[in-house]
Amino acid sequence: MHTLENILSFNRQFVEEKQYEQYLTDRFPDKKLAIVTCMDTRLTELLPKALNLRNGDAKMIKSAGGIVTQPFGNIMRSVLVAVYELGAHEVLVIGHYECGMTGLNADTVVGHMLEKGIPQETLETLEHAGINLNRWLRGFDSVQDSVERSVGIIRNHPLLPPNTPVHGLIIDPTTGRLDLVTDGNEYLANK
Ligand code: ZN
Repeated sequence: MHTLENILSFNRQFVEEKQYEQYLTDRFPDKKLAIVTCMDTRLTELLPKALNLRNGDAKMIKSAGGIVTQPFGNIMRSVLVAVYELGAHEVLVIGHYECGMTGLNADTVVGHMLEKGIPQETLETLEHAGINLNRWLRGFDSVQDSVERSVGIIRNHPLLPPNTPVHGLIIDPTTGRLDLVTDGNEYLANK
């Protein structure tokens, strides 16, 4: 069977057997957290378990690398919606070791696009339209720097409510150990 068929057939059973009951909650996070983190598949179950988070505890905002690159981009908008509309009072940016975005080379990604049949002209058209693929596809050199930069963008955002703690952490994708990069409460106290 194909993946989608497997998913749909499992899903029918899941709903019929009311397996969802153990996860029932509402859309407001119980621990009032918004978490910006990476889409890495090793973190799917490990991260919530390692932080003692259950369904309903946190808004998870995921992307490649868990990076906030633009103050008015999609990730930052999700953070603000979590804070203003969904009751999050605290923000965690959690990068991880061995991230696929570490050392990601835009030229390599573009090379793979060409291999998969995207015509060179398409890339040129985009460049002419002002889309800088090199910048857009760039990863980061150090996860520590990346977490600090993302935390900086959120903390300095003109629309973030003052006194919102924004913490930066790095998780080990094997053991789940957290390393603190920057403590949002300390930052607010020294501001
Ligand atoms: Zn990652």
